[in-house]
Amino acid sequence: MTRGLQKLQARANAEKRAAANAPPKSQLKAMSEGNKFKCPKCLIMIANYKLIVQHMEAKHPKEPIPPESSFKV
Ligand SMILES: [Zn+2]
Repeated sequence: MTRGLQKLQARANAEKRAAANAPPKSQLKAMSEGNKFKCPKCLIMIANYKLIVQHMEAKHPKEPIPPESSFKV
């Protein structure tokens, strides 16, 4: 009997930890609203040009980095 209870408590603690690790809602909102740039290679949405440059250098080092103006709509 006690074993089952301990298991339940362990799961409750794990859920509490998972909730604490989840990013706050405001951050999620900012991420979905701020992504105005799209990587031309893998089409991932990125918040700003600086991050696009970092992404291109890290993920597609052989690709030319498009100028910032090419992302303006
Ligand atoms: Zn990419």
